Amino acid sequence: MSYSKKRYLTYLILTIFIMVTPFIKIDGNHMLLLSFVSYDFHFLGNVYNMNELFIMPFLLMFLFIGIFAMTSMFGRVWCGWACPQTIFRVVYRDLIETFLLKLRRIKNKQKDIDYSKTSNKIKKYIGLILWIILSFIIAINFMFYFVPPEDFFEYMKRPQEHLILVMFIFSIVTFLVYDIVFMKEHFCTYVCPYSRIQSVLYDNNTKQVVYNHNRGGMIYPNNEKSIFNVKQWSGNEECTTCEACVKVCPTHIDIRKGLQVECINCLECSDACSSVMGKLGKKSLIYWGSTNSVLL
Ligand code: SF4
Ligand code: SF4
Repeated sequence: MSYSKKRYLTYLILTIFIMVTPFIKIDGNHMLLLSFVSYDFHFLGNVYNMNELFIMPFLLMFLFIGIFAMTSMFGRVWCGWACPQTIFRVVYRDLIETFLLKLRRIKNKQKDIDYSKTSNKIKKYIGLILWIILSFIIAINFMFYFVPPEDFFEYMKRPQEHLILVMFIFSIVTFLVYDIVFMKEHFCTYVCPYSRIQSVLYDNNTKQVVYNHNRGGMIYPNNEKSIFNVKQWSGNEECTTCEACVKVCPTHIDIRKGLQVECINCLECSDACSSVMGKLGKKSLIYWGSTNSVLL
C-alpha cells in the first residue's frame, strides 16, 4: 500500500474518532469534555472539578516531554499524519480542488490554477462554498469539546441569547477559510512553532524523509543545485532527474537537497519516486528512514 493510501486511511480513522468522541458517554459522563457550562473536566467518564485542575501543569509537562520524545524518534510524524492543518489541506486541495473540481493534477502541486478561464473561476467559488460548509461542521465539532452537544443544540434554538458561542464559531470558520484557502502550507513554514522546535530535536537516528544520495547521486553537492539532467551524471547514479518528487511536494521543496524545515513528512515524494523507479524495476530513492540508514 502506498504511503498516500496509508495516510488517507489514518486521516479517515482520526476524523471519525474526533467527530464521534463528544457524543460518547461513560456512566452518564462524557469521554472528553472541558465544560464551559458546568466548569468541570470529563475524562474517560470521570469528572474532575476545577479545584482539582492543579494537576494540569504536570499533565502538560508529560504531554510536552512525550511530544519531544516522539519527535526525536520519529521526526515530523505528527505533521504529515495527524495534524489538522495537513488533513484540512488534503481535504481542500486534493479532495475538493483536485478530485471533485478537477482544478489541479494530484501529481503536480507546483502548477498554479489558470484563473483566466471563467469555468475555473466558477469552480474556485464552488470549492470555497464547500470548504465554508465543512468549516462550520469542523467549528461546531470543536465547540462540542467545551459545550456538550445536548446543551449546544438547545442553545442554538435561541442563538441571540448565546452570542459568545456564535461568535466563537464564526471566528473559527473565518480562521479556517483564511488558513486553508489562502495561507496554505505557509502556516507550517512561517507560523507553526512546532516546525521550528523540532529541527533542534533531530539526530542521525531520527526517522525522517530521506533521499538516498549514495544510490541516487548528489544533486546539490555544495548546497547549490548543480545536476539538472541525467546526462550530467558520470557514474552509476540512479536518479533519473525526472523531478516527479519535486512536482508532487505540497510544500514546494526538493527533498534531494536534504532535511528542510518546510518538509511535513507526508512522503508523497517517496510515492512519486516509487512509481518512477518501479517502472525500472528498482526501489524508491526516497523513503522514511534515518540519516544513519543512508550513511551505512
Ligand atoms: S519533501 Fe515534500 S513531498 Fe516529500 S515528505 Fe516532505 S513535504 Fe512531503
Ligand atoms: S522522483 Fe526519484 S528519480 Fe525522479 S527526480 Fe525524484 S529522486 Fe530522482
